[in-house]
Amino acid sequence: MQTATLKTLEQPVTMLKGVGPSKSKLLVRKGIHTIEDLLHHYPYNYEDRTTVKPINLLEHDETVCICATVFSAMTERRVNNITLHTLQLADETGRINAVWFNNKYIKNVFKRGEKYIFYGKIKVRGMQRQIQTPDYYRITDETQDLSLGFLPLYSLTEGLTQKQMRAMMKNALDLTDAVEEFLPQQVLESQQLCSIKFALNNIHFPKDKKHYELARKRLIFDEFFIYSLSLMLRKHTSKAQTAPAFKNTGCLSEFTSGLPFSLTSAQEKVLAQIQSDIAKSSPMNRIVQGDVGSGKTVIAAGAMYIAWKNGCQSAMMAPTEVLAKQHYETLTSFFKQYGINTELLVGSLTKKQKDDATERIKQGVADIIVGTNAIIQDNVEYKNLGLVVTDEQHRFGVKQRAALTNKGISPHTLVMTATPIPRTMSLVIYGDLDVSVLDAMPPNRKKIKTYAFDSSMHERVYNFVKKSAAEGTQTYIVCPLVEESESMELKNVMDFSARLAENEFKNLRVGLMYGSMKTAEKDECMSAFIRGDIDVLISTTVIEVGVSVPNANIMIVENAERFGLSQLHQLRGRVGRGDKQAYCILFSDADSETGKKRMEVMCNSSDGFYISEQDFKIRGPGEVLGTRQHGLPQFKIGDIFNDRDLLITASAQAKEVITQTNGLSGTKYEYLKSKINNILQNGIIMN
Ligand code: ADP
Ligand code: MG
Repeated sequence: MQTATLKTLEQPVTMLKGVGPSKSKLLVRKGIHTIEDLLHHYPYNYEDRTTVKPINLLEHDETVCICATVFSAMTERRVNNITLHTLQLADETGRINAVWFNNKYIKNVFKRGEKYIFYGKIKVRGMQRQIQTPDYYRITDETQDLSLGFLPLYSLTEGLTQKQMRAMMKNALDLTDAVEEFLPQQVLESQQLCSIKFALNNIHFPKDKKHYELARKRLIFDEFFIYSLSLMLRKHTSKAQTAPAFKNTGCLSEFTSGLPFSLTSAQEKVLAQIQSDIAKSSPMNRIVQGDVGSGKTVIAAGAMYIAWKNGCQSAMMAPTEVLAKQHYETLTSFFKQYGINTELLVGSLTKKQKDDATERIKQGVADIIVGTNAIIQDNVEYKNLGLVVTDEQHRFGVKQRAALTNKGISPHTLVMTATPIPRTMSLVIYGDLDVSVLDAMPPNRKKIKTYAFDSSMHERVYNFVKKSAAEGTQTYIVCPLVEESESMELKNVMDFSARLAENEFKNLRVGLMYGSMKTAEKDECMSAFIRGDIDVLISTTVIEVGVSVPNANIMIVENAERFGLSQLHQLRGRVGRGDKQAYCILFSDADSETGKKRMEVMCNSSDGFYISEQDFKIRGPGEVLGTRQHGLPQFKIGDIFNDRDLLITASAQAKEVITQTNGLSGTKYEYLKSKINNILQNGIIMN
């Protein structure tokens, strides 16, 4: 491999020197298949070895480089089952001890009188200075280069070390020499972006802070730019399609007059926007943003009613079976009175039931079809599908859209989400969609009483749960997800629930649900909870978005500090669906200022938009934002909130490029197009 193009980088990592089948298997665990994937596995942090500090200036708890001479032999001691190895070091300014714990290999490494670079954490106790488990390099002409500088720290997996990752990365970076630039020249210049080659090299092994910043800016820009391009390309192509125009929209009042409540003015406003969209023959692409409980389902139902009146079928897609079933029931209760046929299509139906359902859909007997993404599978044929609604962040990808278009249909689409983000942002994030905001709640909602407690209150809260259970009230207990390890998470939540089930909740029916359970098992557990067969449901955050269990009125969150505020808000939205007073209890022992402030926000506000804003404002230093929690697109290096300005510029640039190139026509844009296709096929999540 002498010359590399971006195509070269698409080859498997095993093409790299030193990467055999076993290493490549480990890399796959990190989602790395190709050389390009490897290059885009960015460091999460760096060890700063650029400056060597004199020993007399070292401060407690800092992590630094020192350059020192070894002037003792290694001593070995055992303290409480730990083997301690100590070495005495000195430079011109002072002395320090280097210590290692339980590392028998360290014993014979050092030579007295030789100079080494040590990198590690400093502990100062009185006159005593220590550098703990330092990394070290003997100073020779060869090693000098490697020992100082910024060294990347990668997210690893068992069996893979930083050293190995760094070496592989160096090999991969050697191939970037001939990589062609893929961003249009005008974009590079106007945005003052560095080349892709510079960026890749300096994100992994930055020469200094400035190089790093430049590299980072370029790579973030790339992510945002390609994402925006994909949205705009989608918009560009969808304009050319034709959808059935629902001219008869005046019928909506028939539907609303049959509802058990009257619509809020916010709901009316959004429905009016939808009505105007679907009266046209270009497909509607609209997203409705509304807080949990703001009443999005009935809006979808209104649009479906219009479709029915205009002789078309509608389909509603939900992310899970449980939610699909609930929507099916709700919609059936709305539509029965008009003789509209609703149909449920989910994976757990028997073969016969499925066949019957698909037949009814094909014949046009089924007017409203509700289900999981089973409803857009190849084997499902529609007679005349005119509207597709997708609920709760389940976006309708181009793949699915293409599947339908291939059947000769390009329906109107409506997306519903409970993720509240500021308007300027939603225009960019949902660049291909028109945005409607449902900004008011139905009247007479009881406020969910929210409390932040420390662990000392557990017993009292559990007593409250027991008392409430005796009166028929159900409780959710949510434990945080331990990101690092699924098995740990599982163990935690299992131990916790076993303990509760055997002790505090001995006389209650306790259910347990966690991420790695099979979908069918999760569905069964959730259904049991809905039926009222479980008093206390203990789970990681897998409990369904959007599901409504009117008897569940207590939400307890353990280690609440580990959740984002928006996520806590979503969790809280699971209760308070019935007439009774609902409670949300947030347990947290974290006593940091930010932690306290965040709990305060939860206790004092029930406004999702406000809470999400606070989520971004009140953050500890260096805290990384989990966009995943918000159901927003996730980028590898860019953060849509912290790098908001770059996101907005990238989006504007993308718009310009799409117009200028008439939707990226021409061979020059092959690479960009292949990246875009990736996103379009696999959804908006970038990693
Ligand atoms: P979400 O926006 O979270 O999907 P839902 O559509 O599930 O909310 O609605 C939550 C509850 O509010 C449902 O029980 C629904 O019947 C009720 N609801 C919706 N709109 C109104 C309204 N205008 N007045 C009273 N109740 C309403
Ligand atoms: Mg909903």
